[in-house]
Amino acid sequence: MAAPILLNPGPVTLSDRVRQALLHADVCHRELEFAALTREILDRLGAVYPVAADDYTAVLLTGSGTCAVEAMLATLVPRDGKALVLTNGVYGERMAEMVRLQGKPIAVVTAPWQAPLDLAAAATHLAADPAITHMVAVHHETTTGRLNDLAALGTLCKAHDVALLVDAVSSFGAEQLMFAEWNVAAVAATANKCLHSAPGISFVLARTELLFERPSAANSVYLDLQRYARAQRDGFSPFTQAVHVAYALREAAAEFADAGGVAARHALYRARSNRIRTMLQALDVELLLRDDEYGSALTAFRLPPGYSYAAIHHALKDAGFVIYAGQGAWSDTIFRIANMGAIEPADLDRLEASCRKIFRPAAAPGAAP
Ligand SMILES: *Cc1c(COP(=O)(O)O)cnc(C)c1O
Repeated sequence: MAAPILLNPGPVTLSDRVRQALLHADVCHRELEFAALTREILDRLGAVYPVAADDYTAVLLTGSGTCAVEAMLATLVPRDGKALVLTNGVYGERMAEMVRLQGKPIAVVTAPWQAPLDLAAAATHLAADPAITHMVAVHHETTTGRLNDLAALGTLCKAHDVALLVDAVSSFGAEQLMFAEWNVAAVAATANKCLHSAPGISFVLARTELLFERPSAANSVYLDLQRYARAQRDGFSPFTQAVHVAYALREAAAEFADAGGVAARHALYRARSNRIRTMLQALDVELLLRDDEYGSALTAFRLPPGYSYAAIHHALKDAGFVIYAGQGAWSDTIFRIANMGAIEPADLDRLEASCRKIFRPAAAPGAAP
């Protein structure tokens, strides 16, 4: 049987074009051809959001999305500043843990996983604590599929002259990001989610001056973005990069641009996620959040009464699809379906047919609705 279609939030199903690039001949990362490849990738990543093109610089890392997030926080949250971390899910809470482990001054505003970010509490903190220099938040909180209101948060940051650091790992390439307008200092992202490449490379898009003209706050060799940024001006990297994965990323970035960039990917994801939501709701599977609270890339559904996650997962796996469990305490109350990657309309037709069998086992074909 063909490999299953991945409906988890990365790694994603690759297109043939990207998969073929993984078979590129072996190349030394210290040779000019790899430096040229790195520079092309950095240019392409820097051009994904035209509003960021002039003032932000991409830095390429070998590692998963978490690597980029941790390098961003390590390098850019200053030891003599203070981070206000807003959380409403696993990934926001993880960033708070990172800043804490870095031993930097921190305040955390925690919202329940099902709630929006607590912007009122953030505003209160900002007004009361002039030590806060940086706000830290997740854009698309993959725990629930909620697209956090970065426009409101960014406006708050701008008003208080506080820099915004964003985990955009599951939104980069598919959701709007306004950068300077939102006082964004940097966003962290990865190759293997909305950009549809293979896992192994992640990146940070940071204000150029923060990479070259300010001291680095990193107490880490491997996670210091400035080391990479300096070397990558010429296309080189301080440490071995995932060479073959980089060839795949070049192809994925070219494919992304050819397909029409962020607006096109967003529209594609909207069409897919609308279809998946409509289809499952018609089978009495309920959304976790309100429809308009979701981003475009992933939907969390409540497990219907009498269904276990394992049973749904296994039935869909047998039918050729990989879905995703809820995290932590939600592992037996929700399931998630992402719609990133090379997915064809025919795949969604098959998904729909499989879901009918799983969630309407009694309905005979052709029976009256
Ligand atoms: C996927 C993801 C990450 C990073 O996860 P990795 O397993 O390290 O790739 C970070 N933040 C968000 C919001 C994510 O969706």
